[in-house]
Amino acid sequence: MSLAVQSADLDVIGAGFVHLDYAATAPCVRAAADAVNALLPSYGSVHRGTGPRSQTSTLEYERARDVIADFLGCRPGDQVVFTRNTTDALNLLARALPPGTTTVVFDGEHHANLLPWPNQLRLPAPATPEEAVAAVDRALSDLRGGPVLLAVTGASNVTGEVWPVRALAEVAHAHGARIVVDAAQLAPHLAIDLREIDADYVALSGHKLYAPFGAGVLAGRADWLDAAPPYLAGGGASAAVGNEVGDVRWQTGPARHEGGTPNLLGAVSLAAVCAALAATDRTALHDREQQLLAQLRDGLRYVPGASEVSIFGPWRPRVGIVSIALPGRDPSGVATRLADDFGIGVRAGLFCAHPLVRRLTGATGNNGCEGGLLRASFGLGTTPADIDSLLAALHAVLR
Ligand code: PMP
Repeated sequence: MSLAVQSADLDVIGAGFVHLDYAATAPCVRAAADAVNALLPSYGSVHRGTGPRSQTSTLEYERARDVIADFLGCRPGDQVVFTRNTTDALNLLARALPPGTTTVVFDGEHHANLLPWPNQLRLPAPATPEEAVAAVDRALSDLRGGPVLLAVTGASNVTGEVWPVRALAEVAHAHGARIVVDAAQLAPHLAIDLREIDADYVALSGHKLYAPFGAGVLAGRADWLDAAPPYLAGGGASAAVGNEVGDVRWQTGPARHEGGTPNLLGAVSLAAVCAALAATDRTALHDREQQLLAQLRDGLRYVPGASEVSIFGPWRPRVGIVSIALPGRDPSGVATRLADDFGIGVRAGLFCAHPLVRRLTGATGNNGCEGGLLRASFGLGTTPADIDSLLAALHAVLR
């Protein structure tokens, strides 16, 4: 059965093995490769130099920014800042918070959305999406004075579960707080529209969104970003520098936080994927992904000693990420067998979400879930045959 619903622009490059580790890094798609190849003969330094190479590169870089702003549904005045990845984007925002900001996070977050936040109120991961909203409401009611930022994931990198970002944005705003959505795992699977979800900021990684490594994005409200010290002090971030120490006028706009020579190829390839996704029926992509998800989850019920984990209960909306508990087995040993004997790539461990995995495996203390979980994650290039191969291999390994 062919499940192809996208144009050739979204065909993944490379074949010959079963890659079920999209949540770590997704394969590159044709649109991204074509964008890089088109620029290779003519690129030059962005915002530096007057030659044709520089001019083309500056134009392409700023065009990439506009494409990504459209893809994310940015509002007039929002900024799109290019970063290295999601971790970089969230750290940038953490450094741009107004003095005295309190940050609120759940402990189920990826470390990239847990560790950067200063002055942090950490809430236990909720049992349901409704509980998440109620917990934020309570926490924000108790906070007094100063700016507040709520940092939440769009979709969990461990369970694939989709978080109620629209409702969380509403409750945050009702208390005068702002919200940032870590969309590292949401953006590859579902359309994001900042106006629609009413989030203040969103962060994502190109390498999880079918582009090559090295480019990510922080998009959202300009005021905090324009008032903050530059994330990377240096050329490009500075508008004028005097002879005295500290005599510097910083740029406003995205350049303020993009010190150093920009990653043109990263930005342009990421924008090419965004444009290709925007031109695609994302509901059809999502439906196809849900079929693969159902196939995997149904099949797992018959795999001995394996059980899927969830935060909110099994039947809540999720993207193509499933983590499996293997009580009494070493998940990394199982993952190695899957790779060595069956050519299947998954991930084992704690997935940079130690508190959450500890909770999902029922471990106590700080060191109680050594092996963690086994995770299968998929996307544009995944076929039903890939899922069947994984299920058959799991049967063989766990028998
Ligand atoms: N947030 C989530 C939910 C993630 O899954 C990841 C990557 N695993 C990150 C943030 C960090 O992304 P990156 O490593 O590209 O910075």
